Amino acid sequence: MNNKSVNLRSMLALLLALILIMATVACGKASASGASGKDQAGKGNKEEAATEAADNSVPITDLKVTCPVSNIRVGEELPLQIEIAPEGATNKKLKWSFSEADEYIDVSKDGVLTTEPGAEKHVVKVTAKTTDGSNLEQSFDLRIFPEIDLDRPFVAITFDDGPNPSTTNAILDVMEENYAKGTFFVLGKCAVSYPEEVKREYDLGMEVGSHTYSHSDSPTFANMSEAQEKKEIEDTNAAIEKAGVPTPVLLRPPYGAKNDKAKNVIKSYGFSIINWNLDTEDWKYRSSDHTYQEIMKAQDGDIILLHDIHEFNVDAVKRAVPELIDQGYQFVTVSELYDIFHTNNEGYAKNNDWDELVPNGIVHSRPEQRQWPSSNSQSAGGQTGSEEEATEAEEVTEAPLLQEDQDPVE
Ligand SMILES: [Zn+2]
Repeated sequence: MNNKSVNLRSMLALLLALILIMATVACGKASASGASGKDQAGKGNKEEAATEAADNSVPITDLKVTCPVSNIRVGEELPLQIEIAPEGATNKKLKWSFSEADEYIDVSKDGVLTTEPGAEKHVVKVTAKTTDGSNLEQSFDLRIFPEIDLDRPFVAITFDDGPNPSTTNAILDVMEENYAKGTFFVLGKCAVSYPEEVKREYDLGMEVGSHTYSHSDSPTFANMSEAQEKKEIEDTNAAIEKAGVPTPVLLRPPYGAKNDKAKNVIKSYGFSIINWNLDTEDWKYRSSDHTYQEIMKAQDGDIILLHDIHEFNVDAVKRAVPELIDQGYQFVTVSELYDIFHTNNEGYAKNNDWDELVPNGIVHSRPEQRQWPSSNSQSAGGQTGSEEEATEAEEVTEAPLLQEDQDPVE
């Protein structure tokens, strides 16, 4: 019995000790909450500090920067696509850096890339980096073309029937080196065989147009059935898209042939029908010198026709493009030319069906439109080497080409 009572006592003592410990813990809690209650006045600062600490603990885990195009012109705005995860990341600030022409390029807070004169003729690696310590970065290359200068003349050089790898690439090399833009009216069947060349045209800033699929002689595109014409158009679009290039907005029918039926079919796809007004007739003369001399006859606003499938044209382009640039000419795509004339000189019309051009032919939008100089409106009539132009050359001192241009014209 004694043993039992001893046991009972020690158990009671143990229980008491436990109760005491629990009471102490409970008191500790009570006094802690009491202390915080007394600190009510200083609560603001402490909670802010706590919030900041919490915010910094939500870092960016994924950064994705997408640039919709591989090139821009100085003066154009380029909205970038920026995706940051998680949604609740606190510090979403990005630090932008540029491998070249750093002082002429900027990206706004809402992700719009802009350039100033000085950025042209560079291929710039653009890098976005997180600043919250997560050390994530994304880069892309951007080819920067010179700004469109409405005080100087324009030409749209166009190449049909390609791509043909050796000659097309050699011509693209010239365009690339000179930061010149041109338009390639590709054949669907060639785009199927050589998608890399179609993609390279696009990546280098060229416009890719449709020249239909087969270039059939009999029947010609215009003499095909409506169903055949539609197939020619759709198969070409599909080939261009498969090459990773946007659906074309320009179409040049083979031989420029068109009748109302063909025109309506082409227009039903939203295409602009684009012909030319300076035909080098390269296929007929088959001479580098001849093509060169024909290109050098270019006047402001001309759409020049040649074919990128001929070896002899490579040398002609190699000579003519830098020479025309030296004379003040700007090489633009057909859509850019349309944009320039449509917004600045409504009355301009040569041999092209400008009224058939559609607004979605515009590749990029320019932030501002400047006044079309009156001297250019005068030369828009298309006279070659006239006295009128000689007078203009004196007035427009920045455009010596108008004087020099008279020699090749003869
Ligand atoms: Zn053709």
